[in-house]
Amino acid sequence: MSRVLFLDVDGVLLPGRALCTPHNAPLFEAFRKGTALAQLGDKFAFDSCCVANLQEIVESTGCKLVVISTWRKIFIGSGDRRGILDVLADNGLPKEWFHERPVAPYRMTSTKVHEIQFWLGDGSEEIDWLLLDDDISILTRLDEQDRHICTEFEVGLSDKEVEKICCHWSSK
Ligand SMILES: [Mg+2]
Repeated sequence: MSRVLFLDVDGVLLPGRALCTPHNAPLFEAFRKGTALAQLGDKFAFDSCCVANLQEIVESTGCKLVVISTWRKIFIGSGDRRGILDVLADNGLPKEWFHERPVAPYRMTSTKVHEIQFWLGDGSEEIDWLLLDDDISILTRLDEQDRHICTEFEVGLSDKEVEKICCHWSSK
Protein backbone atom coordinates (compact mmCIF):
# COMPACT_ATOMS: atom_id res chain seq x y z
CA MET A 1 0.00 0.00 0.00
CA SER A 2 1.45 3.39 -0.90
CA ARG A 3 2.03 5.99 1.75
CA VAL A 4 0.98 9.59 1.29
CA LEU A 5 1.59 12.53 3.60
CA PHE A 6 -0.68 15.54 3.06
CA LEU A 7 1.54 18.50 3.85
CA ASP A 8 0.69 21.88 5.33
CA VAL A 9 3.25 24.74 5.29
CA ASP A 10 2.42 27.41 7.90
CA GLY A 11 2.95 25.98 11.37
CA VAL A 12 4.70 22.90 9.96
CA LEU A 13 7.68 24.06 7.88
CA LEU A 14 7.25 27.77 8.56
CA PRO A 15 6.46 27.86 12.29
CA GLY A 16 5.67 30.97 14.33
CA ARG A 17 9.17 31.11 15.80
CA ALA A 18 10.69 31.30 12.29
CA LEU A 19 8.76 34.49 11.53
CA CYS A 20 11.07 36.57 13.75
CA THR A 21 14.39 35.60 12.14
CA PRO A 22 16.34 38.53 10.61
CA HIS A 23 15.41 37.26 7.14
CA ASN A 24 11.71 36.62 7.76
CA ALA A 25 10.81 39.40 10.20
CA PRO A 26 10.63 42.25 7.61
CA LEU A 27 8.59 40.04 5.29
CA PHE A 28 6.17 39.14 8.06
CA GLU A 29 5.86 42.82 9.00
CA ALA A 30 5.01 43.70 5.38
CA PHE A 31 2.43 40.88 5.34
CA ARG A 32 0.84 42.21 8.54
CA LYS A 33 0.62 45.64 6.96
CA GLY A 34 -1.31 44.22 4.03
CA THR A 35 1.13 43.06 1.35
CA ALA A 36 -0.38 40.01 -0.35
CA LEU A 37 1.10 36.60 0.38
CA ALA A 38 1.40 36.12 -3.37
CA GLN A 39 4.10 38.80 -3.39
CA LEU A 40 5.85 37.62 -0.24
CA GLY A 41 5.31 33.93 0.34
CA ASP A 42 8.08 32.64 -1.86
CA LYS A 43 10.59 34.90 -0.12
CA PHE A 44 10.09 33.44 3.35
CA ALA A 45 12.79 31.00 4.49
CA PHE A 46 11.40 27.80 6.04
CA ASP A 47 12.85 26.56 9.30
CA SER A 48 15.80 24.32 8.43
CA CYS A 49 15.20 21.95 11.39
CA CYS A 50 11.60 21.41 10.28
CA VAL A 51 12.74 20.71 6.71
CA ALA A 52 15.40 18.28 8.01
CA ASN A 53 12.71 16.52 10.04
CA LEU A 54 10.55 16.20 6.93
CA GLN A 55 13.53 14.76 5.06
CA GLU A 56 13.91 12.14 7.78
CA ILE A 57 10.24 11.17 7.37
CA VAL A 58 10.45 10.92 3.58
CA GLU A 59 13.69 8.92 3.64
CA SER A 60 12.78 6.53 6.42
CA THR A 61 9.16 5.81 5.45
CA GLY A 62 9.26 6.11 1.64
CA CYS A 63 6.10 8.22 1.71
CA LYS A 64 5.21 10.70 -1.02
CA LEU A 65 4.09 14.25 -0.26
CA VAL A 66 0.89 15.95 -1.44
CA VAL A 67 0.50 19.67 -0.81
CA ILE A 68 -2.67 20.51 1.13
CA SER A 69 -1.50 23.95 2.33
CA THR A 70 -3.50 26.96 1.14
CA TRP A 71 -0.21 28.14 -0.39
CA ARG A 72 -1.17 25.96 -3.37
CA LYS A 73 -4.08 28.31 -4.07
CA ILE A 74 -1.67 31.26 -4.30
CA PHE A 75 1.30 29.72 -6.11
CA ILE A 76 -0.65 28.26 -9.01
CA GLY A 77 2.12 28.24 -11.60
CA SER A 78 0.43 30.42 -14.20
CA GLY A 79 0.62 34.07 -15.21
CA ASP A 80 3.03 35.81 -12.85
CA ARG A 81 2.45 33.27 -10.09
CA ARG A 82 5.17 30.73 -9.43
CA GLY A 83 4.21 27.10 -8.93
CA ILE A 84 4.03 25.76 -5.40
CA LEU A 85 6.53 22.96 -6.13
CA ASP A 86 9.11 25.53 -7.27
CA VAL A 87 8.57 27.53 -4.09
CA LEU A 88 8.97 24.39 -1.99
CA ALA A 89 12.05 23.28 -3.96
CA ASP A 90 13.69 26.64 -3.15
CA ASN A 91 13.23 25.72 0.49
CA GLY A 92 14.89 22.33 0.24
CA LEU A 93 11.98 20.06 -0.74
CA PRO A 94 13.02 18.36 -3.99
CA LYS A 95 10.32 17.45 -6.48
CA GLU A 96 11.16 13.73 -6.11
CA TRP A 97 9.65 13.85 -2.63
CA PHE A 98 6.21 14.49 -4.10
CA HIS A 99 3.54 12.18 -5.41
CA GLU A 100 2.86 12.14 -9.17
CA ARG A 101 -0.33 14.03 -8.26
CA PRO A 102 1.48 16.48 -6.00
CA VAL A 103 -1.24 19.01 -5.19
CA ALA A 104 -4.64 18.33 -3.59
CA PRO A 105 -7.60 19.63 -5.63
CA TYR A 106 -10.01 22.16 -4.15
CA ARG A 107 -13.27 23.91 -4.86
CA MET A 108 -14.45 27.35 -3.86
CA THR A 109 -15.56 26.59 -0.31
CA SER A 110 -14.04 23.17 0.28
CA THR A 111 -12.29 22.32 3.54
CA LYS A 112 -9.11 20.30 3.88
CA VAL A 113 -11.16 17.30 4.97
CA HIS A 114 -13.03 17.43 1.64
CA GLU A 115 -9.86 18.14 -0.31
CA ILE A 116 -8.22 14.98 1.03
CA GLN A 117 -11.29 13.06 -0.14
CA PHE A 118 -11.14 14.74 -3.57
CA TRP A 119 -7.52 13.63 -3.90
CA LEU A 120 -8.20 10.08 -2.67
CA GLY A 121 -11.09 9.79 -5.15
CA ASP A 122 -13.10 6.59 -5.31
CA GLY A 123 -10.73 4.58 -3.14
CA SER A 124 -9.77 2.23 -5.97
CA GLU A 125 -6.13 2.79 -5.15
CA GLU A 126 -5.20 1.65 -1.66
CA ILE A 127 -3.43 4.46 0.11
CA ASP A 128 -2.28 4.71 3.70
CA TRP A 129 -2.36 8.44 4.25
CA LEU A 130 -1.57 10.88 7.05
CA LEU A 131 -2.23 14.60 7.37
CA LEU A 132 0.53 16.81 8.80
CA ASP A 133 -1.09 20.10 9.78
CA ASP A 134 -1.10 22.48 12.76
CA ASP A 135 -4.83 23.25 12.46
CA ILE A 136 -6.36 21.51 15.45
CA SER A 137 -9.92 22.21 14.28
CA ILE A 138 -9.48 19.64 11.50
CA LEU A 139 -9.40 16.96 14.20
CA THR A 140 -13.00 17.53 15.09
CA ARG A 141 -14.16 17.19 11.48
CA LEU A 142 -12.06 14.26 10.39
CA ASP A 143 -13.64 10.80 10.65
CA GLU A 144 -10.24 9.19 10.87
CA GLN A 145 -8.77 11.44 13.53
CA ASP A 146 -5.75 9.23 14.15
CA ARG A 147 -4.54 10.11 10.66
CA HIS A 148 -4.04 13.75 11.66
CA ILE A 149 -0.56 14.44 13.03
CA CYS A 150 -0.86 17.87 14.56
CA THR A 151 2.11 20.20 15.02
CA GLU A 152 2.23 23.25 17.26
CA PHE A 153 2.13 26.47 15.20
CA GLU A 154 5.01 28.07 17.14
CA VAL A 155 7.30 25.04 16.93
CA GLY A 156 6.47 23.38 13.61
CA LEU A 157 7.53 19.87 12.65
CA SER A 158 9.49 18.50 15.62
CA ASP A 159 10.98 15.15 16.70
CA LYS A 160 7.67 14.36 18.38
CA GLU A 161 5.70 14.27 15.11
CA VAL A 162 8.55 12.54 13.24
CA GLU A 163 8.32 9.75 15.79
CA LYS A 164 4.52 9.52 15.53
CA ILE A 165 4.64 9.31 11.73
CA CYS A 166 7.51 6.82 11.59
CA CYS A 167 5.79 4.77 14.27
CA HIS A 168 2.49 4.73 12.33
CA TRP A 169 4.15 3.46 9.18
CA SER A 170 6.64 1.09 10.79
CA SER A 171 3.80 -0.79 12.43
CA LYS A 172 2.32 -1.68 9.02
MG1 LIG B 1 -1.01 25.62 9.00
